Amino acid sequence: MSLEGKRACVIGAGFGGLALAIRLQAAGVATTVIEARDKPGGRAYFWQRDGFTFDAGPTVITDPASLRALWELTGHDMAADIELMPVSPFYRLNWPDGTSFDCGSDLVELRRQIARLDPADIAGYDEFLAYSGEVYRDGYVRLATEPFVDFTSIAKAAPALVKHRGWRSVYATVSKFVRNDKLREALSFHTLLVGGNPMTASSLYALIHSLEQERGIWSARGGTNRLVAALVRQFERLGGEVRLHDPVTHIAASGNRATHVETQSGWSGRFDAIASNTDIVHTYRDLLRGSGRGMAMARRLLHKRFSPSVFVVHFGVEGSWPGIPHHTILFGPRFEGLLDDVFERGVLPADFMIYLHHPTVTDPSLAPEGRSVFYALVPVAHMGKLAVDWEQVGNLLEQRVLAEVERRLIPDLSDRIVTKFHYAPRDFALDLSAHLGSAFSLEPTVRQTAFFRAHNRDDVIHNLYLVGAGTHPGAEVTAGLMLKDLSR
Ligand SMILES: Cc1cc2nc3c(=O)[nH]c(=O)nc-3n(C[C@H](O)[C@H](O)[C@H](O)COP(=O)(O)OP(=O)(O)OC[C@H]3O[C@@H](n4cnc5c(N)ncnc54)[C@H](O)[C@@H]3O)c2cc1C
Repeated sequence: MSLEGKRACVIGAGFGGLALAIRLQAAGVATTVIEARDKPGGRAYFWQRDGFTFDAGPTVITDPASLRALWELTGHDMAADIELMPVSPFYRLNWPDGTSFDCGSDLVELRRQIARLDPADIAGYDEFLAYSGEVYRDGYVRLATEPFVDFTSIAKAAPALVKHRGWRSVYATVSKFVRNDKLREALSFHTLLVGGNPMTASSLYALIHSLEQERGIWSARGGTNRLVAALVRQFERLGGEVRLHDPVTHIAASGNRATHVETQSGWSGRFDAIASNTDIVHTYRDLLRGSGRGMAMARRLLHKRFSPSVFVVHFGVEGSWPGIPHHTILFGPRFEGLLDDVFERGVLPADFMIYLHHPTVTDPSLAPEGRSVFYALVPVAHMGKLAVDWEQVGNLLEQRVLAEVERRLIPDLSDRIVTKFHYAPRDFALDLSAHLGSAFSLEPTVRQTAFFRAHNRDDVIHNLYLVGAGTHPGAEVTAGLMLKDLSR
């Protein structure tokens, strides 16, 4: 059967939803994206205030090829819609004693900096790099397109898991190769970028180091929001439809088929296939409420571990800082203890690990002339573990985070701030229907990865699909399943 006349709906215009929609539309499936908010992007939302452009979330692009593929599908040139700029150094790591470490693609320079930390760790780093490269090839390049919808798929992933001892944590693995504490932090913190605890997330996440080395780190000119706009442009030029500001309220299902969706405005549409890019608990508990499958899955999901949240302070300031790179991590006095507070104990720590985003050093157009944009992000426990009134705590935490940035990096920061605001776990819950205000959905633990993550196609409702952070990545996998099913 052909795809002619087939209609699909994608609920949510996050990166996963938009990438899926482009793939479906490019294959000839008439696709409608329905987004709850006034702008597309999801966690990659943005605000414009006082002449500054503030990207809400993602800032680090590690795999431009996977984006380019969305334009190559139709022979269009991605560069005509969006310019990706290399970021160098990839990031600067900084510790309270003043030690600084720049990560980049120049391995000679990297080894020189490792020697400054501990010359004995150079050989160990080389072994780690080889390990990371193997995991990258086995886990990212080879298994990236595996859908993991049935039990037999485990057999495909098992050899890589065993070979690379994937049950060990990434921190434990790094610690076998290098002995310097700072270097251990430098080579393992990356799991935090996907909501995982370096102390417990699988060693397979060590692949991120090689992914960065192989593909570099990039940022979008005009901010990540421009990349979102470019994805929407590519989708719409293919004939796809985006409905904004109209949350889906119900996915109607009959037996093992989803039939149509209803939105808050009263709009309703029938589709051959429906994909949800929204939070997985929201999908099953709220959108499929009343259906046995929805309730059963929601109950199961509520027992899963969810990633922590983040607290982000956005600020626009007077002045320019060519010496502060695009990405800086300010480590605090504790690493394991701090992670324990955030992932397990659910307390608001007195110390911080801050990710400082400074996009105007790469792209001054994000701020009025002579001014700069920053955001300072700190990991915090999700609302299931940390039950505080973010309305009150948010203002205090904002002050503390800014004071720490002032103390460590920008001495007269408070005098220079032109505009500032913060984004707290409660905002993730309210704006994005994110369960517990989690910033990254299901925590990436071994027990919640691949087959054990939410499946890209529902096991019972056969034309209902999932795409995005809570499910197995990425959109190509979900698109492959949908197109195969729709062409039957
Ligand atoms: C602060 C922060 C920084 C990050 N930094 C990076 C980074 O540098 N690099 C990186 O690769 N990743 C980063 N991430 C992770 C990355 O942002 C996410 O993994 C990714 O954006 C998630 O995309 P998604 O496809 O799951 O959709 P989401 O972004 O979660 O979007 C889901 C969409 O569904 C919509 N929706 C919800 N309910 C409904 C409904 N009922 N009807 C219709 N629509 C609905 C929402 O409004 C939203 O637009 C970061 C995340 C955060 C929070």
